[in-house]
Amino acid sequence: MPKRTTHTYSSEDALPEGPESDLFVYYCKHCASHVLITDTQLQKMPKRKTDRAHVLDKAKHLSRLNVKEAGKVMLKRGEGKLEKQFRMSCVGCDLFVCYRSEEDLEVAPFIYVIDGALSSVAAETNPHDAPVPPCITQLEGGLVQVAIEVEDRAQRSAITRVNADDVRVTVAALAARGEANSELLEFMGKMSMLMACESRFLA
Ligand SMILES: [Zn+2]
Repeated sequence: MPKRTTHTYSSEDALPEGPESDLFVYYCKHCASHVLITDTQLQKMPKRKTDRAHVLDKAKHLSRLNVKEAGKVMLKRGEGKLEKQFRMSCVGCDLFVCYRSEEDLEVAPFIYVIDGALSSVAAETNPHDAPVPPCITQLEGGLVQVAIEVEDRAQRSAITRVNADDVRVTVAALAARGEANSELLEFMGKMSMLMACESRFLA
């Protein structure tokens, strides 16, 4: 079965530190142990070209890690270039989740998060337990494709049903006039992050 890497974000992901806080909690993809709390989303971080790791800039962003040391590794990168990695693994299952280039975590400017190692889905919604309806599929490059059935002239934009074949969405505009299409796109943009999560409750 393909691994789900749908990124979801909901208000539950934010820690209760006041209405201004916008924190993201990331969990081990394998065992759902809590690994990282930061104030930006993984998919918004720059990526390394070499291994596609997410680059978390500690000078710009919060990086609260819950990991254990997994040793130093020397990697050959190109002609005569050696890269030092101080690896960190999940406390729950030893999955290699991130690394840094300095031995001292305090002075390391960046945390490199392994692509696909973490999930924003909380422990109680472990993706292993959450079946994704077949209408939501993952494409190359992390894009998510959703089959949508649109009902126009509704009271408001909403997702009204999710089943195996499609996600039913209502839009207020008239489908015939193209407005519905742009309204739908705008709405789906807002909702797409929540959809995988919602589908669990609606399916
Ligand atoms: Zn783990």
